[in-house]
Amino acid sequence: MKTSLPREEHPNGECNERFLEFVRLFAGMNANEGLFPRECRVCGTTFRNVAEYCYATYPKGHCFEDCRDLAQSDPFMMLYRHCKCGNTLVLRITEKIFPDLDAFWQMLHHEAEDSARPLKEVIAEFSDKCDCYLLNLKDSCGGEKD
Ligand SMILES: [Zn+2]
Repeated sequence: MKTSLPREEHPNGECNERFLEFVRLFAGMNANEGLFPRECRVCGTTFRNVAEYCYATYPKGHCFEDCRDLAQSDPFMMLYRHCKCGNTLVLRITEKIFPDLDAFWQMLHHEAEDSARPLKEVIAEFSDKCDCYLLNLKDSCGGEKD
């Protein structure tokens, strides 16, 4: 059962489609060892996978940060979220974990150019879509294999 609808659908679903591919890849990060499970050091909440993580935390401002230029060898990006206790949680997502890192940022830049919006806004929208998708996924397969 749907609990809430995304604020406003785009008149054409095009940019959703563009995001969707990467949203799916994000959901697939579950399988990678090292990223999850994760624990909030302040309140002890444990997040077993991406869906749980997004479900139990809030995006923080500029939530995805491109850090590819900072990396010496293994390019990465940072994902910032707030735990419900207020603690800031950071995921370091390397190219090993998310092989489509370059394509991901290319897509975001393209989307920003095409829609003449600041990159930050596009990132926020992507984050939004990601949350929506993961929450629906969580709802629809709540009793998934454990
Ligand atoms: Zn916490």
